[in-house]
Amino acid sequence: MPWRLLRFALNRKHPEPRMFTTHDKLKSSYDVVIIGAGGHGLAAAYYLATEHGIKNVCVLEKGYIGGGNTGRNTTIIRSNYLTPEGVKFYDESVNLWQDLSRDFDLNLFYANRGHFTLAHTDSALRTMRWRAEVNKHYGVDSEVVGPEAVKEAAPMIDLSCAGHSPILGALYHAPGSVARHDAVAWGYGRGADQRGVEIHQQTEVLGIDVQGGKVKGVSTSRGYISTNKVLCAVAGSTPRILKMVDVRTPIYIHPLQAMVSEPVKPWLDPILVSGSLHVYISQSARGELVMGASLDPYELHATRSTLDFVEGLTSHMLDMFPFMSNVKVMRQWAGMADMTPDFAPIMGKTPVEGFYLDSGWGTWGFKATPVCGKTMAHTLVNDTPHPLITGFSLDRFSNYALTGEKGAASVGH
Ligand SMILES: Cc1cc2nc3c(=O)[nH]c(=O)nc-3n(C[C@H](O)[C@H](O)[C@H](O)COP(=O)(O)OP(=O)(O)OC[C@H]3O[C@@H](n4cnc5c(N)ncnc54)[C@H](O)[C@@H]3O)c2cc1C
Repeated sequence: MPWRLLRFALNRKHPEPRMFTTHDKLKSSYDVVIIGAGGHGLAAAYYLATEHGIKNVCVLEKGYIGGGNTGRNTTIIRSNYLTPEGVKFYDESVNLWQDLSRDFDLNLFYANRGHFTLAHTDSALRTMRWRAEVNKHYGVDSEVVGPEAVKEAAPMIDLSCAGHSPILGALYHAPGSVARHDAVAWGYGRGADQRGVEIHQQTEVLGIDVQGGKVKGVSTSRGYISTNKVLCAVAGSTPRILKMVDVRTPIYIHPLQAMVSEPVKPWLDPILVSGSLHVYISQSARGELVMGASLDPYELHATRSTLDFVEGLTSHMLDMFPFMSNVKVMRQWAGMADMTPDFAPIMGKTPVEGFYLDSGWGTWGFKATPVCGKTMAHTLVNDTPHPLITGFSLDRFSNYALTGEKGAASVGH
């Protein structure tokens, strides 16, 4: 239990401190300006301050902390990726997640549940074996299991999936976990704030001043700031920011939707994902069933949710869990997923000196929040990509050296 909570419970004379400082004005210059107060931007600010002693940093957020995809995701954390680059990177993130609640003195509700990626076809099973072998090679706990192991972990499942997509096996990944998404943003934000980083909400970046190929400053809805280093961590708004610096990437935006049910008694411990049925499900600590699917099949810069999504998702969910027909859907929502052609992120330096990217997080970036913060802070300070992100550089697209992660990232998130 976090010490702060215990102290509060035992002594009511300790009122809760405010989570963040409110700054009336922007300073005229900062060493680093971070665009986007999602988990990634705040984590980078936190590690700049804690690991590199760089505190003259501001994080600019056009809305509110965690109001982007960080507060809209389904919180699946795992490292059972397909490529060596991906497995090593996400494994480091899973390691960092373990201690975050303690580091922040804030309960993130990090819960280790185990993660099954279901295979309904021989080819899916082949990909699971491939992933399991790559995972084991890098010391990540993954194995292919039979349908009986799935039934044992989730007794309510219909293994035949209404008779049309029988489950042949699964990739089981014991470290698979969930956490409370907004608390992660608050934890990183509060930690950075306590060390002197300024977080400015309701402050939109409107332009980036580039002279002679170098970053000189940032124009915002509250005035101009001089700086030599800008980190762009805006997920679904990446193409808009990139226009300001005239940098091209192959990122395209698709809506990604999710929904939760009313709370029901605990019946589902693990996280279940079915790539073939395009659905996944976990049960939150409050009893809600958190459910999602694959991307909407069209490019759109909007966060509208649709009836089509609920109909498609529920019909496939009922194939797996017919008893859920009486469970009510409480909320649905959408985020804007910044997709890349190879389903791997784009991180590091760009052709503009002093402009750094943490983007291409599509449907899978929540789990990477800690490792992104750490590696981007290192990259900004040293002006050299951290060794864990060299496979995610922007120039891989011009060098034809893609990091093909689709087999592990398409529905799995
Ligand atoms: C429905 C859904 C389910 C998902 N499920 C999972 C999952 O289970 N596991 C997983 O790992 N990932 C998942 N993801 C992906 C994950 O949520 C994202 O990749 C991750 O949260 C990105 O974090 P971020 O900090 O980079 O971006 P965000 O949290 O989106 O933060 C970017 C911030 O930038 C701000 N911004 C934008 N433009 C400007 C501007 N001009 N000036 C100032 N501020 C600006 C925005 O307001 C926003 O707050 C899911 C995503 C969605 C939508």
